[in-house]
Amino acid sequence: VDSAFLEQIEAIVGPQGLVTDPIEAQSYLADWRGAYSGVARLIVRPSNTEQVSAVMTLCARAGIAVVPQGGNTGLCGGSIPDSSGDQVVMSLTRMNRVIEVDPLNDTITVEAGVVLQRIQDVALEVNRFFPLSLGAQGSCTVGGNLATNAGGTAVLRYGNMRELTLGIEVVLPDGRIWNGLRGLRKDNTGYDLKQLFIGAEGTLGIITAAVLRLYPQPKAVATAWVAIPSTHAAIDLIRLVQSQCGDRLTGFELMSRVSVEFVAQHIPGCKDVFANAYPWYVLMELSDTRADTNLSEMLEQSLAQAFETGHVLDAVVAASKAQVNALWALREGISEAQNHEGPSLKHDISIAVTQIPDFIATVGQRLAQIVPDLRLVTYGHVGDGNLHYNVSKPIELDSDRFKARADELTEAIYQTTAEFNGSISAEHGLGVAKRDAARRYKAPLELELMQQLKRAIDPNGLMNPGKVL
Ligand SMILES: Cc1cc2nc3c(=O)[nH]c(=O)nc-3n(C[C@H](O)[C@H](O)[C@H](O)COP(=O)(O)OP(=O)(O)OC[C@H]3O[C@@H](n4cnc5c(N)ncnc54)[C@H](O)[C@@H]3O)c2cc1C
Repeated sequence: VDSAFLEQIEAIVGPQGLVTDPIEAQSYLADWRGAYSGVARLIVRPSNTEQVSAVMTLCARAGIAVVPQGGNTGLCGGSIPDSSGDQVVMSLTRMNRVIEVDPLNDTITVEAGVVLQRIQDVALEVNRFFPLSLGAQGSCTVGGNLATNAGGTAVLRYGNMRELTLGIEVVLPDGRIWNGLRGLRKDNTGYDLKQLFIGAEGTLGIITAAVLRLYPQPKAVATAWVAIPSTHAAIDLIRLVQSQCGDRLTGFELMSRVSVEFVAQHIPGCKDVFANAYPWYVLMELSDTRADTNLSEMLEQSLAQAFETGHVLDAVVAASKAQVNALWALREGISEAQNHEGPSLKHDISIAVTQIPDFIATVGQRLAQIVPDLRLVTYGHVGDGNLHYNVSKPIELDSDRFKARADELTEAIYQTTAEFNGSISAEHGLGVAKRDAARRYKAPLELELMQQLKRAIDPNGLMNPGKVL
């Protein structure tokens, strides 16, 4: 690194704001799965917005690109620098202050480096609830959640990160600070600029703080594990439970038989729930803010009705917190369990809920023509139309032969998704992983508008170059 540049950065962030130890640096230069790695000119850890702004100003003047990073839990390589060694990684994790909690306005204002789990905990302390919930919540940061418009398991009831955000503060690529930290639910004074930065994966600016919505704390929860005959039954079941229980339906996760088998086989402590095997399963959760609401009874009534019509084959409602955890462990273990079954392809797509059964049937037939006997680890937040359409290699097929057909299989999945007017990235973003595929499946006009926005806000292409676009 040019020593004058280093000195100037150090004068802004201090020695503790620089990562110089090569061992420590590794965790900023590779993602947690080891799927992406790069080299950085410098790893900077500013501790406040003014420092972010000063570093950005310096980088902009020197024409140096910056890669924002939060908890580095993203799944598309968006937070990792390229291999040139020219880019600066800016980690926001030292910016971890909760600025204000306002239980009456139902808002919490936090710096971008606050870990998601902490927001949930702080909300709970004032008897409020922050609903964003996902497997990486112990490590991911609010900045990363915003930059990827994270989803998770409560979107059905509360929406994505976009819906949970009222205001943000951003440092622009030229170093200027836009303070949009307003806790307003109504603000029709022109373009809603925060939406540009949410989901932009760090390509338009660095999010430094946010005002997020809080909700009443749910006091009663009921969770059921349900065996169903088909994906059609899953869609009918969502509508039945929603019509009877309203927005108490908070989670609705679908899983194929293979997914559950993998978890039961590979994740210690996880067991299949029923003695019989069924083609599909649903994990369903109701919640209510009144502690005296008998949600289990409500859920049992809906399930009994669905049993009569053949939409449900078997069901169990959790009787204790331990059982609730055991059921969620079955759902949350799928991704890891699949890693024990040899090479796989993982996708995160979305389709209008109504089309899910036809999509699954169509894409299944197409894949079988390319490689027979694939093991389809299909699961996801089906209440939101979001499927993790994952494919594990057939037992008998050699790993290299499976890998040789990987692009063809992925292309068939994306092509079918496009034909169903769906999205090839429901919640994980594009990063570098899906950047080129998005070019094939997004309309040329959409891509042109995205390019124009990028040029307008980041004319020199210094914000996370090579990601998304
Ligand atoms: C076990 C597991 C389960 C997961 N489950 C889900 C899930 O259910 N739903 C879901 O949506 N995701 C899920 N994810 C993906 C991931 O956790 C989310 O994308 C998360 O929001 C990323 O946050 P992060 O702080 O780790 O961001 P990082 O990984 O550090 O960065 C992600 C992207 O955001 C950019 N970025 C980070 N901070 C900022 C900032 N302050 N300003 C501007 N840009 C920034 C980065 O440049 C990068 O492009 C899961 C990941 C794991 C490992």
